[in-house]
Amino acid sequence: MNTLKDSFGRSFPYIRLSITDVCNFKCGYCLPNGYQVDKSDNRTFLRAEEIGRLSKALSELGVCKIRLTGGEPTVRKDFFDIVKLIKSNSGIKKTVITTNGYHLDKIASKIKESGLDGINISIDSLNRETFKKITSHDRLPEILRGIEELQKLNFKNIKVNAVLLRGVNDSEKDFNEWSQFIKNNEIDFRYIELMQTGDNLDYFNKYHVPATKFTDYLNKNNWIIQTLGRDAGPSKNYINSEFKGKFGVIAPYSKDFCKSCNRLRITAKGDLRLCLFGNTGINIRHLMQTDEQIEELKDLILKQLNFKKESHYLELGETGLTKNLSTTGG
Ligand code: SAM
Ligand code: SF4
Repeated sequence: MNTLKDSFGRSFPYIRLSITDVCNFKCGYCLPNGYQVDKSDNRTFLRAEEIGRLSKALSELGVCKIRLTGGEPTVRKDFFDIVKLIKSNSGIKKTVITTNGYHLDKIASKIKESGLDGINISIDSLNRETFKKITSHDRLPEILRGIEELQKLNFKNIKVNAVLLRGVNDSEKDFNEWSQFIKNNEIDFRYIELMQTGDNLDYFNKYHVPATKFTDYLNKNNWIIQTLGRDAGPSKNYINSEFKGKFGVIAPYSKDFCKSCNRLRITAKGDLRLCLFGNTGINIRHLMQTDEQIEELKDLILKQLNFKKESHYLELGETGLTKNLSTTGG
């Protein structure tokens, strides 16, 4: 079997696939004015059959995990059909999603039934007012109810992510609230360091705070760093025997962050992105049209990997094609 490897010796068992750019939230760091149709690009989002073929090609290239993201992936009416297709039609072992959880209480049982292998839910604050300020939506209670539903259904592998924001959710009080949350709850909570994108420079300058603000807290409170599996995400995880859940930190500005890169991205319109912040983004959709094209699709993906760069060069302020993370799925 061919496997996805780049010229720096990194392999890629993990794909992040955006299935829509549409989102109903207005997170200040991502889509502060809400989703806007891109009038310069009239291509539609990938159809379920195209996604089915793509996932088959990827599994034959050694990919074992696909994360469905967006935009908000669950706004797609055929969301569960897509999950079903990936699970039945490809050898992908883990299919997981990242969601803002806006109707999680309503779809929890369908999520369980669909056989999804994990869910990352974005919750920037446990304080209802702060949550509302960041996302422009007063939906925290239903999201938390949705998590309870999932747990009642014995759904495993629930993670919660928050973007760390200076003066908004980065106080010891915030950290203690999350500690309480994971104390008796088998949930991993991770802070993501705010990333600069093409659109959010002012927001970034105002709210960016290094992830060390949180890791200092973890070190002070006896959390111990853990080693990771081959298809693990970008989070550094911390454990503490007094807690059922784990803490984690995603710090894209940290030294050597890109060395452990094991993932590629595909946008909702079928562009392969070698890096969240890269300038390369060739379209591979034309090879998702028939089952006979799967070999050709695999070849094209393999060839493109030779162009993957060593690092994102974010620390130099290079944001590449990324205007905001709703098009590449974060
Ligand atoms: N709508 C879904 C959600 O919010 O979970 C999925 C897509 S969203 C783009 C994926 C993740 O990227 C979310 O956890 C979000 O908080 C994060 N994100 C978006 N913009 C970001 C930025 N500029 N810096 C760091 N994380 C960001
Ligand atoms: Fe939507 Fe997710 Fe972006 Fe928030 S972070 S605006 S929920 S895509």
